[in-house]
Amino acid sequence: MELNPFEVAKKQIDIVAEEMGLDPNVREYLKRVERALIVTIPILMDDGSIQIFEGYRVQHSTVRGPGKGGIRYSPEVTLDEVKALAIWMTWKCSLLNLPLGGAKGGVCVDPRKLSNRELEHLTRRYTSEIINMIGPDIDIPAPDVNTNAQIMAWIMDTYSMNKGRSVPGVVTGKPIEIGGSVGREPATGMGLYYVLEAMCERLKLDLKPLSIVVQGFGNVGGTIADLLYKEGCKIMAVSDISGGIYYSEGLEIDKLLEWTKQGKYLKDYEDKKYKLITNDELLTLECDVLIPAALENQITQNNADKIKCKIVLEGANGPVTTIADKILLDKGIKVIPDILANGGGVCVSYFEYVQDIRAYFWELERINKELKKIILKAFEAVYTLSKERNISLRTAAYVIAVSRIAKAIELRGIFP
Ligand code: GLU
Repeated sequence: MELNPFEVAKKQIDIVAEEMGLDPNVREYLKRVERALIVTIPILMDDGSIQIFEGYRVQHSTVRGPGKGGIRYSPEVTLDEVKALAIWMTWKCSLLNLPLGGAKGGVCVDPRKLSNRELEHLTRRYTSEIINMIGPDIDIPAPDVNTNAQIMAWIMDTYSMNKGRSVPGVVTGKPIEIGGSVGREPATGMGLYYVLEAMCERLKLDLKPLSIVVQGFGNVGGTIADLLYKEGCKIMAVSDISGGIYYSEGLEIDKLLEWTKQGKYLKDYEDKKYKLITNDELLTLECDVLIPAALENQITQNNADKIKCKIVLEGANGPVTTIADKILLDKGIKVIPDILANGGGVCVSYFEYVQDIRAYFWELERINKELKKIILKAFEAVYTLSKERNISLRTAAYVIAVSRIAKAIELRGIFP
């Protein structure tokens, strides 16, 4: 139960509903997703066999605008996980005050086991199966765990071929050459950086001398590790699916990024000073800032009391369970919640969507300036409310996000 993300997401709604005295009818309504589609994806494999994969697309709420949220490829994906992720997208878009709702998609597949052709066919078939559910003013997918700009290009092409015209605004996180935005790829990492900087200012901590531990070394973990490394912080440990590496004096992140960009695993990196560690060892290292930037359910009731950091900056969606959240709070650890911390990605996705619709593209400087403005405004609101009401940053973020959704429901009324 603790580890079912959908249960976690519903529990979080209960917590915030109590805090804000939310109408019980709205509370129950928010625990439901608007629509969920399960699709079967048969793929003709390179060896001539047919393999069947299962995919999902869920829209939790479109009350404030079209659905928005990534698509993940992972052998562990379940409908409940996608539902939770769609719910978190609703809160994230609302907290950032973007005119978008919450959605998410997933395919139950290990993309590392597919050839490039198989991966393309899987993506195109999945897109065809969900085609009536997506569109620039319906629901706009984006990258998530194990999906990237190339996969978005295939989705955009499949959708466009079916419509008989190019529709770049159907997905974000596309390659720049076909309507993608500059600054989208590092956007989640940039957002994490701005939020951490703002938090440190409040706590009167200098950024430079901080010791950092990052779980995950993909788009999110890799970017934030790099930004903080360049700032002069000591990145003590990072990890990928092969495990973690640790060096108390600080890892050379630039070299590690070069290594993993060649498709190699961290565990095979040859530097005698670096020690291999397990995921659990990594999470419980003593450090200033712990950045879980991999998957959900990493800090649970089993390891929360062993966490030894000052700040947890949630790069992933849902890395801390509800029970663990309470334990961390009691220990005085500041948890900067996912819907705030990792909002940079969807924020620049929104900019990409706006640029596609207008067919007018911005400079990187404008992207980063507006990203910073939006994310810091949300940070400010969350931090202030948490101080005013003496509640956690997560609860404060939820109060703001859920209030906006509740207000939209009230204004629109219940159809018919
Ligand atoms: N997958 C990212 C997230 O969880 C980005 C979603 C988007 O850009 O739509 O926030």
